[in-house]
Amino acid sequence: MSTITFKAIGGGAEIGANSYVISADGHDALLDCGLHPKKEGREALPEFGLLERAPEAVLVSHGHIDHCGSVPYLMRDFPSLPCYATNPTISIMDRMLHNSVSVMSKIAIERGISEYPLYTHSDADAALRRCHGVHFEREFDLTWDSPFRASFHHSGHVLGSASVLLRANGHTLLYSGDVCMTHQELMAGMSLLDKEIAVDTLIIESTRGTHEQGSEITFEGEVKRFAVEASKVLLGGGALLVPSFALGRTQELLNVISRLQATGEIPDVPVYASGLGRAMYEIYSKYSDLLRPDVVLRPLQEYNRIGDVWDGAIRRELLRRPCIIVATSGMMVENTPSALIAMEMARDPRHAVFFVGYLDPDTLGAKLLRANVGDALAFELDGPPIKIHLTNRQAFNFSAHAHREDLCKLVDHIAPKNVIFVHGDPDATAWMEKNTSSLYRKFIPSIGETITLES
Ligand SMILES: [Zn+2]
Ligand SMILES: [Zn+2]
Repeated sequence: MSTITFKAIGGGAEIGANSYVISADGHDALLDCGLHPKKEGREALPEFGLLERAPEAVLVSHGHIDHCGSVPYLMRDFPSLPCYATNPTISIMDRMLHNSVSVMSKIAIERGISEYPLYTHSDADAALRRCHGVHFEREFDLTWDSPFRASFHHSGHVLGSASVLLRANGHTLLYSGDVCMTHQELMAGMSLLDKEIAVDTLIIESTRGTHEQGSEITFEGEVKRFAVEASKVLLGGGALLVPSFALGRTQELLNVISRLQATGEIPDVPVYASGLGRAMYEIYSKYSDLLRPDVVLRPLQEYNRIGDVWDGAIRRELLRRPCIIVATSGMMVENTPSALIAMEMARDPRHAVFFVGYLDPDTLGAKLLRANVGDALAFELDGPPIKIHLTNRQAFNFSAHAHREDLCKLVDHIAPKNVIFVHGDPDATAWMEKNTSSLYRKFIPSIGETITLES
């Protein structure tokens, strides 16, 4: 049996530009090809210089930019490289990659980053033409002479998200991608692999490895708390802003809000949703058969368009009466719809901002959550600091990532010979390593380190 090796070129000991090379018999398969969410310019790319040859294919687990954002950049160097992902993920990548070109082009002007955009709209189109949509649970060869066979399995994180099973030379490897074990409003939790499939190597995400979660916090419990707190704001005459990631969180939250309005748990006020989240919603509608069979996705028409938030008059008009606004970005990056609406709200204590996803401590969202009344924050790049009179700022736990205890249970369920912990801060991967059985060979890879995988 020949050797199988693993090498992280991004996403090793960090939540970074996820990208992992699996090698067998002088052939390479690339798992994910993301952009680092916190770095800028070429720094945000995986270390493509560590590739020893052209990969045979890139397999994309899901449409978040930290997993697919550098596919067009890589494909400019390797124009004949095929990319495989599930059908909804390819539709999502189409919107996300073009949006990423627009965002990078805007930042290039605003902040003078000459390396931006890292790729153009025509690079994105060329890459998308090389993307092949695959069905869940169906095995295929990467190329006609490839040692690799692959299949995609539901990972429960966002629409289209998958764990990737890769087989080569008698070795079976499972890359978790981003996983959620429990049901969300729309997504059913991850489907566990058939017990008959013996996995030799598991590459597992560790996003929430530092996050202590009391067992008393459940999705439904958070929905109830959201309902009580939102009602107080709306009945008090305020507007509620819910900063939200475009893919996943926005569609989940809009449907939570509709359910709570239908049952009368929150007042029937207008609900608004911002641009990219609406585009993603259309893809959720197209592939609604992949959502939980027991839920009915609400029609997008139930949610109003926000309009041009760069126009102060439009923002003020929006906030004149009680309403709920679900807007990107989820971490409230400066100059995004959620930041501009929060800037307008900051002056009026009747309003509220409820965060519903991960907040990086350095972001404006985290700063607003922590700020004292009277502190000042800048919501626009180069804009003046605005005094915060807004008192009601809260965080809710609607994560689309598995709790760390569930990740450890997943490791034990799969019981592989090798476990590789990726996609987490050093503290997170270390916690995961410490809290899983010593029966497995365990690895926390650094970028560029080659790990030989024994069967
Ligand atoms: Zn993700
Ligand atoms: Zn991720």
